[in-house]
Amino acid sequence: MQLFDTHAHLDDAAFANDLTQVIQRAQDGGVIGILAVGISAASSEAVIRLAEKFPMVWAAVGIHPNYAAQAQAEDWWQIEKLAQHPKVVAIGETGLDRYWDYTPFALQEEYFVRHLALARQTGRPIVIHCREAEADLRRILQQDYDVHGSLKGILHAFSGEWATAEFGLAMGLHVSFAGMVTFRNAEDLRQVAARIPAQRLLIETDSPYLTPVPLRGKVSRNEPAHIVHTLTCLAQVRQVEPTTLAAETTANARHLLGIDSAD
Ligand SMILES: [Zn+2]
Repeated sequence: MQLFDTHAHLDDAAFANDLTQVIQRAQDGGVIGILAVGISAASSEAVIRLAEKFPMVWAAVGIHPNYAAQAQAEDWWQIEKLAQHPKVVAIGETGLDRYWDYTPFALQEEYFVRHLALARQTGRPIVIHCREAEADLRRILQQDYDVHGSLKGILHAFSGEWATAEFGLAMGLHVSFAGMVTFRNAEDLRQVAARIPAQRLLIETDSPYLTPVPLRGKVSRNEPAHIVHTLTCLAQVRQVEPTTLAAETTANARHLLGIDSAD
């Protein structure tokens, strides 16, 4: 079985002491690729260093909406420069967040639009975070779509309604599910996940967050090796073999991120 974790914060302090073992455990569990996602200029630089060190790790560079308020002008120039690195295969993490109030919403929008422009300009997919801002997300994506057409990217750790997933699919986006889809109270989300077309479906851990059931509450942090539990849950709700779903989601990730299967 081959798995691809399309969203992990490998530069997080939670992995500072044992990342080599974490990567090894992922590899032993069938994970053949991990997209390490930056949340600031410094974090984006850190995930590139990890992608240089570990062949199976790839990088996304960007400034997370909750960190945009702290960013300086030169941080954005740095992101634009880092986007040219050969192991950078996506732009983000960007998006909108009305749950936390760390960045004024107008500034979040401004950064989201900048990331969209950089994704268009580099031809790389965009990694989108959305928390309690689905109407705003749709408004901004629709404006971008009206000018530029279909967009490559990922609605990451998707937890919204079918209408939002359907909208993202119409824009050209992929939909990625994290551990939340395994939670006991997430039946509605599982029903959304069951309806995503197979060629647009991705899986992720969002490590070190969102530990899936049955490990939830039993381990102190999530890590890429745990992605198998999200895969198993999705295979069950979609009534397909886990190996089939693993092959499909891994092929989707490679295709979207432009990673050759020979790597
Ligand atoms: Zn993230």
